[in-house]
Amino acid sequence: MMNVYAARLQDWQRQGLERPHRPVQSPQGPTLSVDDRAYLAFCSNDYLGLANDPRVCAAAQKGLEQYGIGAGASALVCGYSAAQAELEAWIAHWLDLERVLLFSSGYLAHLGVIPVLVDGETAVFSDALNHASLIDGVRLARPAQLTLYPHGDWEFLEEALRRCPLEQRWILTDGVFSMDGDVAPLRELERLAEQYGAWVLVDDAHGLGVLGPQGKGSLAACGVSSARVLHMATFGKAVGTAGAFVGGAAPLIDWLAQRARTHMFSTALPPLVQAATRVALECVALEEFRRTHLARLGERLDAGLQALGLKGLPSCTAIHPLILGENRRVMAVSDRLREEGLWVAAIRPPSVPEGTARLRISLSAAHSVAHIDQLLEGLEKVMGVEA
Ligand SMILES: *Cc1c(COP(=O)(O)O)cnc(C)c1O
Repeated sequence: MMNVYAARLQDWQRQGLERPHRPVQSPQGPTLSVDDRAYLAFCSNDYLGLANDPRVCAAAQKGLEQYGIGAGASALVCGYSAAQAELEAWIAHWLDLERVLLFSSGYLAHLGVIPVLVDGETAVFSDALNHASLIDGVRLARPAQLTLYPHGDWEFLEEALRRCPLEQRWILTDGVFSMDGDVAPLRELERLAEQYGAWVLVDDAHGLGVLGPQGKGSLAACGVSSARVLHMATFGKAVGTAGAFVGGAAPLIDWLAQRARTHMFSTALPPLVQAATRVALECVALEEFRRTHLARLGERLDAGLQALGLKGLPSCTAIHPLILGENRRVMAVSDRLREEGLWVAAIRPPSVPEGTARLRISLSAAHSVAHIDQLLEGLEKVMGVEA
């Protein structure tokens, strides 16, 4: 029996698809320590540099003193802490949402929420580049009809909506796409939702903290506020902590709290995480300089890549992909970069479509301009030698 899996693993390794675990010995930050060596890292989603912020850590410590470690139970039993209630209310007020519900992670949010929203009488329209958690939520939900529309192609989507015989319709999209760093056409999706009686679930994992006034995310950046839009985002990225929320109209969110199985049957996050997240979000909202700096770093990187003749996808977010195509090429480049002390994530299928393997360069407000220049020098050296 074991040989089946051993053989599959070997085959996987032969195809160059294996991804190792690299135990990090330091907090998140511009440099990460692995095997007692320091790497200048461009692979974390800690976009604002808050994952090890002293104020956020102090809030966690205070939470630890008040609540201890474990939540003890799921939220509907006795695991719903005052810290969670405060955080939900804070987010609802900040983002002008009627109600907010927390989940232990973004992945669990989608696995729980989508099967409540979508059933055997619902049509789902999903962007071809959506995150795996949206895809898996739909798999669990088993909709009557599933349309994958080409990435960002709202005209294709409009035609599909026009032809759809079902009344209950959900459009699912990333706000910022995790491997391309571009923003969904949210204004158009909002219009389509209004016009065709559809609902939209926006996964803003990479938009929250980075885009819009006060870092409120891609929806605020695009001026989208329709009651037909359900707002989801995670705390594990720019907010620097852990967990996720779904927010929208009160009856809808209250229904999710009653029915979402990952809410009902999974232990709530440790309350200290909620306490830390509250403080982290205050930093997100108030510290505009983090976003300004991040944007400046992004411009410098994009310009530098262009000067090297490398075709990065230009991006107004923290995600700057450099598509190299073939799996082995990406692996070779990322291995060479690591020898230079630079850690950049090599992203291959199934995370991205076949033939579009890439370096996913992610920036953080914790980086300095000098760090960007160091990366560009490393790329020049490595890509020059390679070519
Ligand atoms: C990371 C991510 C998630 C999952 O969030 P977690 O809290 O890490 O489980 C969902 N959607 C997108 C687009 C993501 O990048």
